[in-house]
Formats: sequence, structure tokens, C-alpha cells
Amino acid sequence: MRILLFPDEKLRLKSKKIEKLNDDVLKFTENLKNFLYKNKGCVGIAAPQVGRFEKIIIVDVSRHKKTTECNGLLIMLNPEIVERSGKSINREGCLSIPDYTGNVARSFYIKIKYLTLDGQEKTLATSGFEAVALQHEIDHLDGILFIDRIVDLKRDLFKRKIYQ
Ligand SMILES: [Zn+2]
Repeated sequence: MRILLFPDEKLRLKSKKIEKLNDDVLKFTENLKNFLYKNKGCVGIAAPQVGRFEKIIIVDVSRHKKTTECNGLLIMLNPEIVERSGKSINREGCLSIPDYTGNVARSFYIKIKYLTLDGQEKTLATSGFEAVALQHEIDHLDGILFIDRIVDLKRDLFKRKIYQ
């Protein structure tokens, strides 16, 4: 698996819904999970970041110091935010933009409808850092990057030396 890096135009593509769960989707998702865990300090990944333009995201904030609410490993197919409220500004980073971090404003609380790997429809409500990570990954499915959400690039975008 290789990560697409900004400014690769493919990062701007919109991902398609998963219509059918098959072995290929399951195998890909397993690989994507392993890839995420190999990147220490990284709390989430979306399928399009490795060049597969389908609505699959994986988030696990359980080992991050900013975590408050936590639901462990979350693998979501076709995630859709159905409710949101509040506001939270956080420093974000992205495997596809390794040289920068930025302050991004997002909803504090969200409710997501999604499909599990065994085809069940589920709803998850969460808040804080986990909600932020999920919003970041869902953005990737629409071709949106965190830098797009920074209002003032001069004030809120930062160069970093190492990815951690
Ligand atoms: Zn990202």
C-alpha cells in the first residue's frame, strides 16, 4: 500500500458507495487497518488515500493523548453524518500531507450512520477528538483535505519536522 501525497489530484476524487460486501472489500480493509497501525501516531485513514475510491474509513483514537470519548477500532463503510452540533478547534495532521499540521474547526458532537464489515447498519454518536478524527476521514471520501478547512493559512498552518 502506498499513500497518495498532496498535491496529487486523485486525492480530490469523490469515493463511491460500497454496494456489495465481498472478499475483496474485506481483504482490502484488513490491509488498510494494518497499514494504519504501522503509522504510529496516526489515528485514521480513508481508502482513497491509498488509491481506492470507495467509502471506507478506519479510525482508532484509543492510543492518542487528546482522546476523551473512545469507541476503539472503528471500521465504517458508507459513513454519513446525520447529526452534528457544537464546535471544536484542533490541530490536525494527515498522512497525505506529512509536512504540515493545521488548526481546523469542526463539530464537537456527531452522529454517524454506517455499515459494518458484516453488513449491519449502525449508528454511532461520539464527541471530542474521536468525532474530529471521523470528520477528517469522511472528508477524504468527498475529496476534501484538512487544509481546505483552514480559514487563515498564515495563522493556522504549521510546518513540521517529523511525523508523530
Ligand atoms: Zn487525512
